[in-house]
Amino acid sequence: DAEVVLVGRSNVGKSTLMREITGHRFDTGGKPGVTRSPNHYDWTAQDFVITDLPGFGFMSGVEGDRREQIKTAIVQYLETHADKILVGVLVLDGKSAVDIIDRHSGPDEIPYDVEMYHFLRDLDIPTVVAVNKMDKVDDRDERLDDLCDRLGLLPPWKQWQDTIAPIKAKNGQIDALNEAVRTHLHEQQRDDL
Ligand code: GDP
Repeated sequence: DAEVVLVGRSNVGKSTLMREITGHRFDTGGKPGVTRSPNHYDWTAQDFVITDLPGFGFMSGVEGDRREQIKTAIVQYLETHADKILVGVLVLDGKSAVDIIDRHSGPDEIPYDVEMYHFLRDLDIPTVVAVNKMDKVDDRDERLDDLCDRLGLLPPWKQWQDTIAPIKAKNGQIDALNEAVRTHLHEQQRDDL
């Protein structure tokens, strides 16, 4: 089955988004680091399976070793299924993503989010960055431009609406994501003709 994957740090709102997309209830706010995936569900509005991969990155109460294991499992899943994955959705917390990226940028450190974005691209998986919790962001355009910059996309973000999808999962406002995913699906169908 055609597949769309969701990846993102813990607490960015992945479960909330999954619930919004599928109509299923998910275990939000559960014990961090408890791997609930990969979980496969039908994306009701569109015609494919959506897979929720475990949250990666820092989680309080989760050991570094365990975090590395989770990350390795995600990477392996993506590598193994790359051929069938139509779109990768990297979910970020719009309020904190840029700060977290900057805090973890250094001479020999690549922030998880940036790494994951490039990893998906390297696997030739069309990628949409779902920038969640936009209800908490005041300086919307500026924040999204900064995010583009950190991901290596030339601002302004409005040039990248197939890639950058600001959403409010909690309020059910995910049109930009639906739109961006749909664009990539159509592009691939055209390529297949
Ligand atoms: P996960 O760990 O990535 O699955 O994150 P959850 O879905 O459990 O959400 C983490 C927290 O973020 C919860 O308290 C959610 O209610 C909250 N959250 C999710 N989406 C939004 C949003 O669009 N806006 C705001 N303000 N909070 C959100």
